[in-house]
Amino acid sequence: MNKQLTIALVAHDQRKADMVEWAVYNASMLSKHKLVCTGTTGSLILKAFEEKGIDADISCVNSGPMGGDAEIAALVVQKKVNLCVFLIDDLNAQPHEADIQMLLRQCRVHNIPIACNRFSADLMITSQLWDDDSYVPTPPNYVKFNR
Ligand code: PGA
Repeated sequence: MNKQLTIALVAHDQRKADMVEWAVYNASMLSKHKLVCTGTTGSLILKAFEEKGIDADISCVNSGPMGGDAEIAALVVQKKVNLCVFLIDDLNAQPHEADIQMLLRQCRVHNIPIACNRFSADLMITSQLWDDDSYVPTPPNYVKFNR
């Protein structure tokens, strides 16, 4: 991929091992982009990258339950994020469920790709559409369907 993207990375506690493993596996690709992460997710990725001598542009917002998901959602609204990888813990209730739903909703509203599992994330980061300047993403159409 030639284009430099801003990629948001967020993982709930039970999915952080998955996220770190995914980020390390894709480190050579991710290190070409700007990464914006919720606090704990970002610090764990940073630590894993440092241990492996991988240099990357990683910035962190607040931890998710303290507003980090909301901050990422605000960046989505401002069109400052190209892609989100959001590994949600679907097996346990989260105290910041409202913020989680906000991030998911704002990605849908603003037509920002959001991967909630590793397979989707792998597909999205390897898409050739990122470099296809003739491709214009079609925004959602909320007009009522008339038969
Ligand atoms: P964290 O936040 O990376 O700071 O743990 C993620 C979340 O819980 O949404």
